[in-house]
Amino acid sequence: MIHKKTALKKTASKPSGYTTLRGMKDMFGQEGELFQYIYEAGKKIASAYGFGYIETPVLEQAQLFIRSIGKGTEVVDKEMYVFEDKDGSRVCLRPEMTASIARAYINNGMQSMPQPVKLWYFASMFRHDRPQAGRYRQFHQFSCETLGEHNPVVDAELIVVAYNMLRDLGINSMVKINSIGTLQDRENYLVELVGYLKSKRSYLSEDSKKRITKNPLRVLDSKLEQDIAVVEEAPQIIEWLSGDSKKFFMSVLEYLDEAGVPYVLTPTLVRGLDYYTDTVFELYPESEEEGSQSALVGGGRYNGLVEQLGGQATPAAGFSMGIERVMHVLKKSMSTEQQDQALKKGGVFFAQLGEQARKRSLYLLEELRRAGLLVQHNLAKSSLKAQLELANKCGSTHTLILGQKEVQDGTILIRNMESGIQEVVDQKKITNAVRKLLGE
Ligand code: AMP
Repeated sequence: MIHKKTALKKTASKPSGYTTLRGMKDMFGQEGELFQYIYEAGKKIASAYGFGYIETPVLEQAQLFIRSIGKGTEVVDKEMYVFEDKDGSRVCLRPEMTASIARAYINNGMQSMPQPVKLWYFASMFRHDRPQAGRYRQFHQFSCETLGEHNPVVDAELIVVAYNMLRDLGINSMVKINSIGTLQDRENYLVELVGYLKSKRSYLSEDSKKRITKNPLRVLDSKLEQDIAVVEEAPQIIEWLSGDSKKFFMSVLEYLDEAGVPYVLTPTLVRGLDYYTDTVFELYPESEEEGSQSALVGGGRYNGLVEQLGGQATPAAGFSMGIERVMHVLKKSMSTEQQDQALKKGGVFFAQLGEQARKRSLYLLEELRRAGLLVQHNLAKSSLKAQLELANKCGSTHTLILGQKEVQDGTILIRNMESGIQEVVDQKKITNAVRKLLGE
């Protein structure tokens, strides 16, 4: 309870002296709406394809990611937020969630559930990356994972879900795809690749030179021109696939053809993390101006991961979509009108005038909410002018107006915001009237 009158006085807002940490940000207003809009699109498509929601802890044992993602990767070597917990154990903020999913699959006995187990999540990840456009230290991923099935249709379905989700959001994307075979295929290939890279050592960048022994596959997705020239001539992993892996990959491509999802075979696409096997893919915005430098989605098959973490051998595949990157593309590509439409601006505003009307509003708003009808309002405002201004700001097509007289009559006014024409409606019929206005 604030007693001193002065405490309620508005003062010009000063910076608090605290800032968000580098690479982290607050999201609210239009951005907050956009974030939720993407969340809803993800929830809708994941449910339609039979994925169940999963939530796992933000904090995990550091070792979980070190084992699964692998030493020699940027994520493990440089980007993990690792610290000592009060009991002396080494914990970390999750840099990704696939390892958490594999852990949860093992811990919760999901191998005895009907297979495949299909899971989706929308969650924050933490990587101590160098902040730059589209790269944050706390960011969000929408992901789908299918565990317990080694079938090319699973890989294709995941790509279809990611592609169609982006399409639902109005983003045309391009799928880059490759296969890196089984762990054995990869070992054989690596002997060849390392030999080749060593022979070209002097042409490579300093970073790539270091990676020849630490993580040679990473050299393949270097973005530096001097490396690209060497990589273009490098042996291609696809030539080293076993018969089964080749057949599997061909089937994935056939399913994609069937589903009408266009793709580009990309022999240099290997993805950085150790746990991938067979199919790997990334989705990029199709148009150059939307910034095709950064992948919107990354994913692939990880048949060895569950076993590596101590579970039974379990084939699995998944993808992760970077929400901040999707938001960036949407902000650039959508007109304000499209954004308003997408964020469901418009609709109906509820205005009240006088203390009695304000009290009655609480009752009526709840009645509408129970009927599943959401209307904008600001009960703290008293003047009708201020409320109509708000209604205009929200782009509302109609405003319900409840004054002293209407409370007594048991009526309410419906004002068409464009024409200014008002009609009187019985309060008992408010739900039907609003439903009509919202076109529901
Ligand atoms: P990854 O887990 O590295 O395969 O990343 C999957 C997707 O997450 C990427 O394609 C990006 O869209 C997104 N992503 C990865 N790292 C970041 C980051 N530091 N900031 C924002 N988005 C990211």
